[in-house]
Amino acid sequence: MKKNILISGAGLVGSLAAVLLAKRGHSVTVVERRPDMRTTSGYGGRSINLALSDRGWNALRKAGVDKIIEAIAIPMYGRRIHNHDGSSSYQPYGKEEQAIYSVSRKEINIALMNEAEKLPNVTFLFSHKTISFDLHTMLCEDVNGTQVTLKADMILGADGAFSAIREVMQKTDRFEYSQSYISQGYKELTIPAGTNGEFQIEKNVLHIWPRREFMMIALPNIDGSFTCTLFLDYEGDPSLKSLNTEEKITSFFQREFASAIPLMPTLVKDYMNNPTSSLVTVRCYPWVYNHTTALIGDAAHAIVPFFGQGMNAGFEDCVILMECLDEANEDIQSALDTYQQRRKPNADAIADMALTNFVEMRDKVADPKFLERKKIESLLHKRFPDKFVPQYSMVSFSSQIPYSVALQRGKLQDSYLDAIQQIPNVGQQLDTAEFWQEVNQILDTLQPFEYSI
Ligand SMILES: Cc1cc2nc3c(=O)[nH]c(=O)nc-3n(C[C@H](O)[C@H](O)[C@H](O)COP(=O)(O)OP(=O)(O)OC[C@H]3O[C@@H](n4cnc5c(N)ncnc54)[C@H](O)[C@@H]3O)c2cc1C
Repeated sequence: MKKNILISGAGLVGSLAAVLLAKRGHSVTVVERRPDMRTTSGYGGRSINLALSDRGWNALRKAGVDKIIEAIAIPMYGRRIHNHDGSSSYQPYGKEEQAIYSVSRKEINIALMNEAEKLPNVTFLFSHKTISFDLHTMLCEDVNGTQVTLKADMILGADGAFSAIREVMQKTDRFEYSQSYISQGYKELTIPAGTNGEFQIEKNVLHIWPRREFMMIALPNIDGSFTCTLFLDYEGDPSLKSLNTEEKITSFFQREFASAIPLMPTLVKDYMNNPTSSLVTVRCYPWVYNHTTALIGDAAHAIVPFFGQGMNAGFEDCVILMECLDEANEDIQSALDTYQQRRKPNADAIADMALTNFVEMRDKVADPKFLERKKIESLLHKRFPDKFVPQYSMVSFSSQIPYSVALQRGKLQDSYLDAIQQIPNVGQQLDTAEFWQEVNQILDTLQPFEYSI
């Protein structure tokens, strides 16, 4: 029963897969292009911190590292919206106790690698990049160009959005592939901790400065700082291209993010020095080749970050793959086949929802009609929990509801919300009996939802 498994990529998903597969007794070798992040300084990755939600926690629990991550995770209970005029408003993400969590990407990765290395049947091969693979072999190369061929019963391509494993699969017959960039790129900036290490703005929220065509967000770090991300068009004015002098950067921030400027003493330097990165959606199929090799995480489905679900979805891939191995009694061919069939519709669904959420974050969150809708949605969830669950909650506060169900149910509920928002003077009536009578009638045809949160 014990198999030899090769994983290309020791990022978040590859490291988690290594832990889960090794705990099943398989022998796992993880090949990673970069040096070991635990012993080298600097971290050549994107997004210093990430939003971790229920799907991710579920996977970390199964890997046994949830307690380690809990100690460094900062709950964010809602969004703090910073308006142009300096005012701000708060929108809870869900019920009072529900939160998504800001966590350091590096610390999650390290916790998973450490957990994997506690097991005698896991080996990491750092500074080796995957070049290609075949039925039962993977070809890798070290920094000096020395090549090594590794043997396996199963190969997982967990090597990210520009996966080497997928690149080989792309050359095979009938492989479906698309990649699509949004017009915005992103740049990471920083709000340092105050002089006594304190948070300079509210700690337990995700901050958003929505400006319709672009936006800045900020997530807290445990050292009291915030990592800010500016999402802005590559071309046009203003754009990442047009903000090319100190004066232009300063006047753009003064005009658009005046409330943040006093908190960002190194703004111009950070802006000039930090890289600009692009945002891609990758869709492909099949995810399995030769019955022995499968894509997982971003290699299978890179998505834009606006639902905070890329890592969560990749972690969920690992959980589902383990379920498929259980069901198939560790038969790799059968497990991989079920895995790709079960996961593909869900990966497509979260890719779509992530794109839609960009418009919500940069534009709608500041729109009074949208805020009214959110309020109604939350009231409906309280009054009719068996019928109405906000899509955000289905995605972020459940590890049971498949993404594809969240997408479909969300669309269905949206049509009911549209009808409720048509009620005259709806905003003024939310606490009247007449309003709820009308709502009852409207919701009469909405069938109870099979999941609850
Ligand atoms: C700006 C931004 C913000 C984000 N925010 C969130 C968030 O809040 N919440 C969330 O859930 N997700 C978020 N994500 C998405 C998340 O970062 C990814 O979904 C996640 O990193 C995917 O993990 P992965 O292991 O599949 O890929 P990666 O993290 O890309 O890891 C791939 C690994 O493979 C290695 N590798 C690549 N090529 C080779 C090769 N040829 N040989 C060997 N090794 C190789 C790489 O060095 C890397 O270590 C965000 C993404 C971005 C860009």
